[in-house]
Amino acid sequence: MSVNNETLLSIIENMQKNIGENRSYLSDLDREIGDGDHGINMDRGFQEVMKKMDEMKEQDISGILRTTGMTLAFKVGGASGPLYGTAFMKASDTLKGKEEIVLTDLPGLLDAAIGGIQLRGKAVQGEKTILDTLFPAKEALENAIVEGKNSEQAIDAMLKAGEEGAEYTKTIKATKGRASYIGERSIGHMDPGAASALILLRSIAEIVN
Ligand code: ADP
Ligand code: MG
Repeated sequence: MSVNNETLLSIIENMQKNIGENRSYLSDLDREIGDGDHGINMDRGFQEVMKKMDEMKEQDISGILRTTGMTLAFKVGGASGPLYGTAFMKASDTLKGKEEIVLTDLPGLLDAAIGGIQLRGKAVQGEKTILDTLFPAKEALENAIVEGKNSEQAIDAMLKAGEEGAEYTKTIKATKGRASYIGERSIGHMDPGAASALILLRSIAEIVN
């Protein structure tokens, strides 16, 4: 696996496409436990990112992630904008001066993204958030690399763990964000942020595999 700036732009385009296609799905999930705007927020954010395509074509991989993060952070109204925005900006920091992303860069990149989300949102794993997808996905990726798996296998493992993580959010109650207002009643529903995080991971896997 090797992601240069052209491939990275394809990944971001694929994120926009998949988020756009899942706009209603994400808002429906948010309607169950929040205010019903998660799909709208994410879709608006990635549409704004698309407006920066010409600018990003001139940037290196770190710059592309920075521009994406800044755009999400400043153009998305909901809680998720600054959270995902910080995630992309922190991931950008791990790639300064690099021309490509290889498989072994991915865990560090995800780790930084998770750190950014935690810096902003102060959540830990098990609070029914984006992190419940990203944490297990990162761990599975790390383990697969240690076990000597190739990039396709490692990315499949990442995705599978992310899927299980998102599913797991159905079984727990929200203790962070808007969904925490309904407490126990949030059990039984998938967290919209965990679902969007899975869509973003899948968008990466579709391009790199
Ligand atoms: P809002 O809650 O402002 O309407 P969104 O609907 O766009 O924003 O995003 C909601 C999602 O944000 C939740 O499903 C959850 O995954 C995520 N989220 C909320 N608060 C936090 C937090 N403190 N840490 C991590 N993720 C969070
Ligand atoms: Mg919402």
